[in-house]
Amino acid sequence: VREQALKRADEDAFTADGHRIQVFANIGSPADVDAALQNGAEGIGLFRTEFLYLENDHWPTEEEQVRSYRQVLEAFGDKPVVIRTLDIGGDKDLPYAELPQEENPFLGHRAIRFCLANPDIFKTQLRALLRAGVHGNLWIMFPMVENLSEIREAKTLLAECRRELEAEGAEVAASIKVGIMVEVPAAAIYADVLAREVDFMSIGTNDLTQYTLAADRGNERVASLYDASHPAVLRLVRQTCDAARNAGILVGMCGELAGDPKMTAALVGLGLQELSMSAGAIPEVKEEVRQVETDPARQLADKALQAEDGSQVRAIVEKGKMN
Ligand code: PEP
Ligand code: MG
Repeated sequence: VREQALKRADEDAFTADGHRIQVFANIGSPADVDAALQNGAEGIGLFRTEFLYLENDHWPTEEEQVRSYRQVLEAFGDKPVVIRTLDIGGDKDLPYAELPQEENPFLGHRAIRFCLANPDIFKTQLRALLRAGVHGNLWIMFPMVENLSEIREAKTLLAECRRELEAEGAEVAASIKVGIMVEVPAAAIYADVLAREVDFMSIGTNDLTQYTLAADRGNERVASLYDASHPAVLRLVRQTCDAARNAGILVGMCGELAGDPKMTAALVGLGLQELSMSAGAIPEVKEEVRQVETDPARQLADKALQAEDGSQVRAIVEKGKMN
């Protein structure tokens, strides 16, 4: 199976009944691009930009950022590259940022919250993205969004950066898609409202699981509770997919769950159109997509949503594969 999967890694993935499911890679730096391409990534579904900030001892300059983003965009040509804006705070500290200690960092001042409160830092990144966007098919994604005004504020800053760059005579990408991560339960619960302001949504099951189940993703003592297959998490996934479909926008998944080949049929059945994962998982997930029939997958997902817990979900998807 593995051999067959590797042989066909370069081919786009269609279900057995002909629906395209886009299979993308998650990357953490331009150094990951080769592995993504070699494994058949049809695009980048999540470029975590934190590395740029973490590997430096200073806030990365606009030029430094343009260089990084441009490398990735050029490597992928006209294929989509989703670049996520800075997701700092939570468990990710930056020594030079001098972030204040928080009692509950995961519920604190992280990601888009930090960026909106520090517009200079945020605008440096947005300017770099707009400039780099000239060199490929850029999609910008905001992390940890939980309400509409965060999206509006971020888009206002993006528009401001565009005007400034144009006034300076810089070349700026003409059309860029703007989207959000759905990784806070609130965003999934009223995804229909958030969908009005964005071009795409990508579900981050790593955080969505920790927030939905109130189980810290890094705490060993609650590791048995932290389960992305929990039907409550899957219901939020379904709800988000329904909202996106009704709004006519693309919905994907870039959390770890997306790269689990056992879950592929159920994820297609929940309504996901794009799955993004670590490069090594791509060939096998593509091969799984090729086995999927849409209607039975939908029924499989419906059944999983009625399960008692995550282990029952896994038993249901295993059984679904045998039938
Ligand atoms: C997620 O939360 O699922 C996600 C993809 O983002 P990160 O793992 O970087 O928090
Ligand atoms: Mg996250």
